[in-house]
Amino acid sequence: MMIYLDHAATTRLDQEAFEAMKPFLLDEFGNASQLYTFSRTPKKALKKARETIASCIGADPAEIFFTSGGTESDNWALKGVAFADYKHRATITSAFEHHAVLNAAETLEQLDHPVAYIWPDKTGNVNPESLAAIITNETLLVSVMLANNEIGSVQPISELCSVAHMHGALFHTDAVQAVGHIPIDVNELGIDLLSASAHKFNGPKGIGFLYIRNGTKIRPYSDGGAQEKGMRAGTENIASIVGMAVALKKNCDVMAERSEHIKKLEELLIQRLREYKLDFIRNGSENHIPGNISLSFKSADGEALLHRLDFMGIYVSTGSACNSKSTELSHVLKAVKVPEEYALGTIRISLGYENTIGEIETVAKALHTIMNP
Ligand code: PLP
Repeated sequence: MMIYLDHAATTRLDQEAFEAMKPFLLDEFGNASQLYTFSRTPKKALKKARETIASCIGADPAEIFFTSGGTESDNWALKGVAFADYKHRATITSAFEHHAVLNAAETLEQLDHPVAYIWPDKTGNVNPESLAAIITNETLLVSVMLANNEIGSVQPISELCSVAHMHGALFHTDAVQAVGHIPIDVNELGIDLLSASAHKFNGPKGIGFLYIRNGTKIRPYSDGGAQEKGMRAGTENIASIVGMAVALKKNCDVMAERSEHIKKLEELLIQRLREYKLDFIRNGSENHIPGNISLSFKSADGEALLHRLDFMGIYVSTGSACNSKSTELSHVLKAVKVPEEYALGTIRISLGYENTIGEIETVAKALHTIMNP
C-alpha cells in the first residue's frame, strides 16, 4: 500500500499529457527551428502549447516563455530585471519565499544590487502595508509568491502589485504552487512576471514557463540561438512543453471539482485529528491552496514522524522538499513564528485529486497511533 500525500513536492504525470508527449519523443523529433517540412509538426505543437498555456492564465501567447521549471523562471525574473537596470535599483521580496527566489536575491546583493525583505505575519500573509512601509520610488522590482509552498497561504497579490506600481516598480510572483490549482488571471492580478512549473500540476518535470508582460524590461536568460524570441536560447523541449500544456489545460478544466474533493478530504483530516484529541496547530491562513496542510504537533519530532509514516507506506514532507535534507527549522516556520514547542513537530501533508476518504482515515489513525504509543 502506498498513500502519497506530498503533491506540493511533485505530482504524477497525467496520462493524457504523457500520450500527447510520446510522438515528440519518438517520430516527431524534428528541431522546431528548422525550415523543412519535417519540422512543421513540432513547430505547430510549440505554437499551440503557447496559446493553450496563455489562455489558462489570461495572457497573450507572446508573453509566455518556456523555461526548465520554477527555479529557472524565478532566477530569470529577479536577475533578468535587475541586470536590465543600469542604476542598480532595489529589489524587495518576502522572507518566506522559495529558495529559488531567496538565493537569487542573495546573488543580487553580492553583485551590489540592494535587496530588502518584508516579513509575513503569523498567519503567513505578506501585508500590503508592510510593503508600503519600505517601498520607495527607487524600487525596481517587488517579488512575492502567490502561494507559499510550506504552509499554502495565498497572498494578496493584486493589492501588493498596486503598491508596487504606485511607486513605479515591477511586480513578479512565484506562482509555482498556485498555477493549475486556483484560478489565475494575470490581468486581474496586474502582475508583470509570473513563474510556473509543470511538475506541480501533473505535467512533466524539468519544464515550466515565465510569463513576461509585453514591454517589461528584462535581460535574456541565456545567450545563443534565437529561440523564445532570443530571450531564452536553446533547442526547445517540445515533448515536455506539449505535456505541460495538456496537463495545465486539463487541471484548469476540472479545477473546481478537484478542489471541492480535496477540500472535503482536508476538512475530514482536521476533524479526525481533533476527534483523536491530538495537540496540534494548523499553520497558515484561511485563504490557502486546497490540500496544503501544514501541521505542527506539540513536543513531536517532524522528521521522526515522517519516517514512522514512511514505514507505513504514507509519504508526507517535513517542510519544503528542498529543505528536507536539513533537520533545522525551515525559514518559513521561523518567519511565521510557530511556537517553539510545536515547530519541531511539523509535517506538511499536501493532498491531490487521487487521494480518497479511505486514505485520509488511514493517515489520521496512523498519526493517532504514532502520537499515542
Ligand atoms: N517555487 C516554489 C514556490 C516551489 O514550491 C518550487 C518547488 O518546490 C520551486 C519554486 C522550484 O520549482 P522547480 O522544481 O520546477 O525548479
